[in-house]
Amino acid sequence: MPARLSPYEIMERLVAFPTVSRDTNLPLVDWVEDYLKSHGITAHRHYNEDNEKAAIFAHVGPEEEGGIVLSGHTDVVPVDGQPWASDPFTVVERDGKYYGRGCCDMKGFDALSIWALVEAQYRGVTRPLQLALSYDEEIGCTGAPPMIERMQEVLPKAKTVLVGEPSMMTAVTAHKGGRAFWVHMHGFEVHSSLMHTGVNAIMYGAKLIEWANTINAENMARTPSDVAALFEPPWTTVHVGQISGGTAHNITAKDCEFGVDFRILPDEDPEMWRELFLAKVAEVEAEMQAVVPETRIEIIEKFGLPGLAPEQQGEAEAIARAITGDNGNHVVSYGTEAGHFQTAGYSAVVCGPGNIEQAHQPDEYITVAQFNAGHDFMKRLLDRL
Ligand SMILES: [Zn+2]
Repeated sequence: MPARLSPYEIMERLVAFPTVSRDTNLPLVDWVEDYLKSHGITAHRHYNEDNEKAAIFAHVGPEEEGGIVLSGHTDVVPVDGQPWASDPFTVVERDGKYYGRGCCDMKGFDALSIWALVEAQYRGVTRPLQLALSYDEEIGCTGAPPMIERMQEVLPKAKTVLVGEPSMMTAVTAHKGGRAFWVHMHGFEVHSSLMHTGVNAIMYGAKLIEWANTINAENMARTPSDVAALFEPPWTTVHVGQISGGTAHNITAKDCEFGVDFRILPDEDPEMWRELFLAKVAEVEAEMQAVVPETRIEIIEKFGLPGLAPEQQGEAEAIARAITGDNGNHVVSYGTEAGHFQTAGYSAVVCGPGNIEQAHQPDEYITVAQFNAGHDFMKRLLDRL
């Protein structure tokens, strides 16, 4: 009889793998695969392009469609430069809290899900339960779309997804979507006394940034839709959080680079915002090229994350509410993989233990109480299945 680990013991194992997004997650995936296999569960992998990371997913119960997916991610954010009181990759219990990188976001939930899958295997559920653990969530949820596609080819298609990002076990039914661009302005250097003959990458970049300011002001002035009104702030925002450029105060800057991030209401079309932005980019680029034809604006599309829109009579929400007893209206300001699942036709909700405020922090923790609440949630879910 193979060892059946408790959720806490599984979390200890998972946290011990330093699966920072930039590094491989394969040792963790190996462990999960072996553990599931020792309990008679066949897991499947989907590798990323360079085969350094993999998503892992599995199905338990009758070989039929309509099951429930427990969705988590395996990657964590870096600990570089953060003051930790103890080793970030060793779970330590102090003062009613489990400390460790990922305990809150979201190896705690991953552990509970793995535990639930094994339990489901032994109990013999009548409705399928699936596990889906992705990679690259923390760098734009880019690992989820290929995983979701692959899952549907390999496993009977499930109907409902519970994404266990920290929500204090409340049912989160909506979040904004995201679009991120990296902008590289390629200008033309001249002495600043002759600036009319040069193209100052910083000053033309400022036109795009000022466009962001204008969009924010316009959006803020708009009357919010019902969906928008759920959010703080109730409008789509455009943000520039990082910039560099120029070489000296008396040279028209040859280069300027900055990041432009959109947080988009789930009832607005991300493609529309992309096109508006790119139209502005084309306009500014034309102005630059009127001065020096070889100048240009390079746009790197970092990621697009669909929003999570509230569902009418969604099963995911109904299950989360029935189990947690939570009837409040919750939206969050962070993006999750729930938007990707919803886009792929699943009913999706975010519901997981822990507080997002503790995610990504030095001395990240989940309270023992929240972890146990997550455990109770899984037990009740299993009873329903
Ligand atoms: Zn997360």
